[in-house]
Amino acid sequence: MDDCLFCKIIRQEIPSLKVFEDEHAYAFLDINPFQRGHTLVVPKFHAKEIFHLPPEELAGMMPALQRTACLLKRKLGCDGMVIQQNNAPIAGQTVFHVHFHLVPCYEGVPLTWQPLDPKPTMEELQALAEHLRA
Ligand code: AMP
Ligand code: ZN
Repeated sequence: MDDCLFCKIIRQEIPSLKVFEDEHAYAFLDINPFQRGHTLVVPKFHAKEIFHLPPEELAGMMPALQRTACLLKRKLGCDGMVIQQNNAPIAGQTVFHVHFHLVPCYEGVPLTWQPLDPKPTMEELQALAEHLRA
């Protein structure tokens, strides 16, 4: 969709911190992470909410979702992971293209559901994305 932020990211019209990509999905670091390695996985098919995503597109993106989760676990050594997907503003959705949040969890680091403070710098996020892609 022309004016969708995540469609523009998928089309590389605006920059992103790419972690993984395949035919069906694109994964990139969240710029306001709740934890180190917080990643978004989005279908390449534009749908506003999960209710509108064709089932075959949802199924098609699941291998990329799992592969990205495994990548984060292996490369970051996290102890667990929350996978969350918000639909509509009432549920906390702010970008209206379906996306899954992959939030790594670490022993001794509470998950507050707020952006990390201090926020990582762009240089730190770029280095993290490179480490995950390597
Ligand atoms: P939600 O609240 O579930 O719609 O999540 C949207 C997420 O997108 C938020 O966690 C934002 O930090 C994140 N976000 C917004 N713009 C960008 C961007 N340009 N690159 C990466 N993440 C973004
Ligand atoms: Zn879109």
